[in-house]
Amino acid sequence: MINFINVTKQYAKGAIALSNINIKIDKGDFAFIVGPSGAGKSTFIKLLLKEIEPTKGKIIIDGIDITKLSLRKIPYLRRKMGVVFQDFRLLPNKTVYENVAFAMEIIEASPKEIRRQVPTILAMVGLSNKAKMYPNQLSGGEQQRVSIARAIVNNPAVLIADEPTGNLDPDTAWEIMKLMKQINRRGTTIVMATHAKEIVDLMQQRVIAIEGGRIVRDDKKGVYGYED
Ligand code: ADP
Ligand code: ADP
Repeated sequence: MINFINVTKQYAKGAIALSNINIKIDKGDFAFIVGPSGAGKSTFIKLLLKEIEPTKGKIIIDGIDITKLSLRKIPYLRRKMGVVFQDFRLLPNKTVYENVAFAMEIIEASPKEIRRQVPTILAMVGLSNKAKMYPNQLSGGEQQRVSIARAIVNNPAVLIADEPTGNLDPDTAWEIMKLMKQINRRGTTIVMATHAKEIVDLMQQRVIAIEGGRIVRDDKKGVYGYED
């Protein structure tokens, strides 16, 4: 599904953020990306999303080397990936329903498909009764559910989450993790960068640890492994 082959990323100002990384994430995997601040986690995520380009190496997603992808084909890549952020990034002037529907409008889904799919996904994330509310009327956990609904509404192969529980209290964070696991069980590959030690330790999923731009650990049922 995802294959990094000898990937190095050196930023313009000189810092080598990732140094000759090799990693394979299979379809259906649930992988945590952990490591101290400055280790290279965000760089890894940005490379996946093709927000930045590697200095060296190949990044294969679903059989395609995305470093060679023409601009014209980037939308097709983005469609394979849903993204969730720590700060939700919802559109404040759209309702819950409209935020999710908008993701389908962007890929030019038909109004009929949108009317069918949005309520299904809102039910799945437990927000059917909040469809008409605006983001600022929701709790943090609810806003993150909307952002997850938006990320999965087009059925992406991969869900990428960058600190998705970073702004949530422990109970709410755990509810979000149960939802992510449910999405993973339906076959979606999940890549989640996180500092949430308790969550990583309890979930017993794959843990890929990055330190100083190198992969220092990759365990099938791993632990967080840091004390922060
Ligand atoms: P993490 O997400 O694990 O905290 P990052 O991927 O953000 O780590 O950063 C890895 C390294 O790359 C750090 O040394 C950081 O200072 C550096 N870095 C990140 N972004 C840039 C940038 N745009 N320009 C220069 N250096 C950067
Ligand atoms: P949490 O305990 O997760 O922080 P809140 O106390 O923020 O949750 O919210 C509890 C409930 O009240 C939620 O269902 C939320 O949708 C609703 N709510 C919170 N703020 C508002 C608001 N300004 N207008 C309408 N409903 C709200």
